[in-house]
Amino acid sequence: MKNNHLIFKKIIKKEIPAKIIYEDKLITAFEDIKPKAPVHILIIPNIFIETSNEINKKNKYIFSHMFYIAIKIAKKKKISQDGYKIILNCNKNGGQEINYLHIHLLGGKKLKALY
Ligand code: AMP
Repeated sequence: MKNNHLIFKKIIKKEIPAKIIYEDKLITAFEDIKPKAPVHILIIPNIFIETSNEINKKNKYIFSHMFYIAIKIAKKKKISQDGYKIILNCNKNGGQEINYLHIHLLGGKKLKALY
């Protein structure tokens, strides 16, 4: 996997620009730079976690908070009634491009089913 986790670290530190739409002491949410849907938001932990394989007993509360806030954002963006997708890509076979744990919130149009 590419060593590109610094991109998301810099977004959290506001060292590179991003459309941050939510932040708290645990997580940051911002618009994807190449949106695949009218709403395409990435939610990331503020501490560096490389992939979902590094979720453990100690940090799993951050992971559940990421999902909780993703759903809150979906409601705020008014895409929750029609529905949305939350996607997590892990490593090479999962198609993870950025090696910093993130979930994608996508909605605002009918999205293709994978299965
Ligand atoms: P993934 O394939 O799951 O690793 O997704 C990485 C996502 O990060 C892609 O959808 C990219 O468009 C997005 N991305 C990459 N660089 C940036 C950036 N600087 N700001 C916002 N989103 C980004």
